[in-house]
Amino acid sequence: MKQIQQHTDILILGSGPAGLAAADAAASSEQSVTVLDDNFAPGGQIWRGGPTQWSDARAKVLWQKLITCTNVHFLYEVKVVAAPRINTLLLETPQGACSITYNRLIICSGARELLLPFPGWTLPGVTGAGGLQALIKGGLSVAGKRIAIAGTGPLLLAVAATVQRQGGQIVLIAEHRSTMELTRFILNLARSHRGKLMQAIPLLARLWSCSYRHATTVLQAHGDNQLQSISYLQNEKTVQLDCDYLACGYGLVPNLELAKLLTCEVQNNRVVVNDNQQTSQAHIWAAGEVTGIGGVDKALAEGRIAGLSASHQTASDKEQKTRNHTRQFAALLEHSFAPTDALRLLCQPTTLVCRCEDVGAQQLTIHPDWRSAKLATRCGMGACQGRICGAACEYLYGWQAPGLREPLFPSTAATLAYEPTCP
Ligand SMILES: Cc1cc2nc3c(=O)[nH]c(=O)nc-3n(C[C@H](O)[C@H](O)[C@H](O)COP(=O)(O)OP(=O)(O)OC[C@H]3O[C@@H](n4cnc5c(N)ncnc54)[C@H](O)[C@@H]3O)c2cc1C
Repeated sequence: MKQIQQHTDILILGSGPAGLAAADAAASSEQSVTVLDDNFAPGGQIWRGGPTQWSDARAKVLWQKLITCTNVHFLYEVKVVAAPRINTLLLETPQGACSITYNRLIICSGARELLLPFPGWTLPGVTGAGGLQALIKGGLSVAGKRIAIAGTGPLLLAVAATVQRQGGQIVLIAEHRSTMELTRFILNLARSHRGKLMQAIPLLARLWSCSYRHATTVLQAHGDNQLQSISYLQNEKTVQLDCDYLACGYGLVPNLELAKLLTCEVQNNRVVVNDNQQTSQAHIWAAGEVTGIGGVDKALAEGRIAGLSASHQTASDKEQKTRNHTRQFAALLEHSFAPTDALRLLCQPTTLVCRCEDVGAQQLTIHPDWRSAKLATRCGMGACQGRICGAACEYLYGWQAPGLREPLFPSTAATLAYEPTCP
């Protein structure tokens, strides 16, 4: 890892598509740009694994430009854990703690999966939909394995395509939304986002032979110490199916922790930004999934505008128009695939909700809010610090998580004791 600079003009958190596009746009201003990420390589979620694994031409073009920019520095395996002073972030690295100061910050922290509890969801072999995608990109072999993919939204198809490419046998794709709802989504795509529809057609053609079921919901994962089978509901009939993996995802949740810590305005679970991607804090911008779930095109378009604006350059009308179009797609996704109320019924009284601290639903339902549940049960106080069960409890019980406390991630005592130097 390169030596961490004490100060940078523009700091970008996250090296996914939004962060890379922001760095590319800001680099042309010749100000110093630093990109931080807790992964070991650039790419974020969709381009996970680093440049040698990328097939998307947009990622390769961005990277070729960025590696020739002497004013852009990348720092990997670096977690932002706190904001001890104004324009200062405390970082934890494998080599220890350090800090960095900045004039302007662009938050491109992406999203994580929304995992909804159902009986058996914590069995080994059950993952999130994007989680399985990430494991495969990280080297997990699924060749010859029987894989069920369930939940809702287009990510299920992307995961199925990856599984198929890697020689996995897809035994079921269970889309929770009904045929009517999916038809409406496709008609909307045909009307306003034809490019997206054209991207989906070859994917659907490749998956034609798979068992793709609408209005189908996985009810339970079965197995003693490992997933062996699932039961799912289709046309009011419960069907049992043997499988080795179940990848189950009900959408994504923006990673809002740093934005909230820096008191950027957040509404409806997304960072509020203006036309230049500037947040309610004048020196902070945000781009990508953190401003609303919309996928790679929105992340690239917003990242570019944020990078230009943070480096005092102006986005063109065309760039603004492209970004606005991607925001419309994000709104369509949200409208079409938000989890329905019916999914709450999947969580039974004995179902674990907080898997880090082994807290079941029946221990939680007696509490009026997150704070009370946390104090009495330790729900949300384990390794993930409520990143998984917090969103699940918000969905199941309508609990809003209370104000955020540092550190953002579990950190070593040495990191917490670190005293940042003044710039
Ligand atoms: C598990 C998962 C798998 C996905 N797979 C696909 C897919 O296959 N195809 C697809 O089209 N879309 C996929 N998506 C959707 C994906 O969110 C977008 O397509 C795209 O990657 C969003 O880009 P982004 O730059 O906004 O965020 P991301 O790509 O998520 O990048 C954000 C980066 O910020 C880093 N970060 C966040 N907080 C911190 C912190 N405090 N300190 C240091 N680093 C931090 C993260 O590690 C990450 O590398 C997936 C999403 C998830 C959650």
